[in-house]
Amino acid sequence: MAEPTVYPKTASCICGGLAVTVTAPPQMVHACSCLDCQRSTGSAFSYSGFFAEDAVTVSGEVRSYRRTTDAGRWQEMDFCPVCGGCVFYRLQVLPKIIGVSIGCFADPGFGKPEKLFWASRRPHWFDVPAAVEPVETQ
Ligand SMILES: [Zn+2]
Ligand SMILES: [Zn+2]
Repeated sequence: MAEPTVYPKTASCICGGLAVTVTAPPQMVHACSCLDCQRSTGSAFSYSGFFAEDAVTVSGEVRSYRRTTDAGRWQEMDFCPVCGGCVFYRLQVLPKIIGVSIGCFADPGFGKPEKLFWASRRPHWFDVPAAVEPVETQ
């Protein structure tokens, strides 16, 4: 059984060059199976904790990539220039909030997502757990 998560807590890329430390729990935890999240993570869904900006400290070298979402707003992916791991990101629609890739905490005890967005785009073999609310789009 995984231990409950304690804070402060550090998320890092696989080479360890880029890390973020959070001092408080996330305000929300979401998963998203939109095709952009599948493409950017290389996996079935993104799994993100959204933290208040002042609870987050970034250390290490970071590169950023901004894309424009279907809604016309920017999304900035912040990743390690050495290994490419996207440790955190920012969304224009959520000012003063930083999304952290929960997998980068390497913590199996981390809280579950409240919702899976774009459940309609999830891989056909993936049954959404009963404790997670599927949202068909966004
Ligand atoms: Zn790295
Ligand atoms: Zn998505």
